[in-house]
Amino acid sequence: MTTVEAPASHLRENPFELAKQQLRKVADAFEIDANLVEVLSECKKAVTVSIPTRMDDGAVQVFQGYRVTHNIARGPSKGGIRYHPDVTLDEVKALAMWMTWKSALMGIPFGGAKGGVVCNPKALSRDELERMTRRFTSEIINEIGPEKDIPAPDVGTDASVMAWIFDTYSMNKGHSVLGVVTGKPIEIGGSLGREEATARGAQFCVRAAMRKRDIRPNGATVAIQGFGNVGSFLAQFMVDDGARVIALSDSSGGVYNRDGIDVAAAFAHKGETGVLAGLRGAEAISNEDLLLLECDVLAPCALEQVIHEGNAPEVKARIVCEGANGPTTPAADEILEDAGVLVLPDILANAGGVVVSYFEWVQGLQEYFWKESEVNAKLNDIVTRAFNETWAEHECRGLSMRLSAYGIAVERVAEATTTRGLYP
Ligand code: NAD
Repeated sequence: MTTVEAPASHLRENPFELAKQQLRKVADAFEIDANLVEVLSECKKAVTVSIPTRMDDGAVQVFQGYRVTHNIARGPSKGGIRYHPDVTLDEVKALAMWMTWKSALMGIPFGGAKGGVVCNPKALSRDELERMTRRFTSEIINEIGPEKDIPAPDVGTDASVMAWIFDTYSMNKGHSVLGVVTGKPIEIGGSLGREEATARGAQFCVRAAMRKRDIRPNGATVAIQGFGNVGSFLAQFMVDDGARVIALSDSSGGVYNRDGIDVAAAFAHKGETGVLAGLRGAEAISNEDLLLLECDVLAPCALEQVIHEGNAPEVKARIVCEGANGPTTPAADEILEDAGVLVLPDILANAGGVVVSYFEWVQGLQEYFWKESEVNAKLNDIVTRAFNETWAEHECRGLSMRLSAYGIAVERVAEATTTRGLYP
């Protein structure tokens, strides 16, 4: 039997400490009661499980898994499950806290949660992945549920993983429980538009930000780090809006062409080879250099802390759209703010996923499914309203977009907590 150890992490700083630091800054700016800040600084529940899994060669590997609920003052907790070798409990806690703020900013009736398993999903066969996912689901079966805590996909997980979670939970309950997880395949209760939703929400935010900065979408230059669920659809949507995508990347490295990358060819190349590297009509660029390109929009859509104190002074983008969660450290944030870069914070820019997850949950509970145009129109309403509320706060108080968005969110959660009262 072997136990999987996490390798050296991509995280430069402890993300949960950074998330708490952000909360304290917001609390100061918005004069949130100190007792409430104490409550909101901690996660309601953090569960650690071991996941013994039979490998294809007959050996047993034990993976480490986490499910964390940050807050449920506004509704059941909601948040993705990440499969990645660098997952740590503190990373999951930070991501859970950000989910609380994101749901509140969007005005949807959810709290925040997150989960993760320390593993490299690319190194597992499909059967191994399924066995591990089903055992993980069994280990956290008392933590999740449609009225309790609802997982979704995140880095390294997709609709198939959600289908296994849904099936394992349903088998144990004796009937199909559609609302236990979102991001499911369409044929078993997924929502139309969910797969593209995070990128679609980012597109709506970028459009609104471009209008504020007098940037015409047609011909605007865009660089995107990460070519997974969020980054790949965002690249497509930017092209649909007439923009020129000059750089793309995945964990194997990046590709660059100042005249514009053929995004459809990038999809095909990635599909055939599994990596972006080697795409014809583009030169190689590192993930680090991609972030420093001169462009109208830079969208980090991979992992946390990629824009930090060391490289922030060299970022030349006019707008940073945080497709990823936590891609900018607080120190980098201040540098970008001073340089006049318009940062669209994660809880605004990538909230499209949780919004359509909310729609999927509602559709599942009602067993009544909507048209894709209806999903996208409702998503646009919610994200654009949140953008406008954040912009108004930013203008009126002279705060950054991040502080404004977090302020609105934390105030909403604080108000719900106060209204409910402290039990007992
Ligand atoms: P994904 O697994 O589909 O894609 C991740 C991408 O990042 C892949 O292209 C991968 O190659 C790349 N990547 C991994 N490590 C990298 C590295 N060190 N350098 C550069 N690229 C690297 O994941 P996703 O669902 O697209 O999530 C990406 C980000 O968006 C995460 O921060 C996630 O939390 C956030 N997010 C996702 C959703 C969603 O609905 N999927 C919603 C909100 C936020």
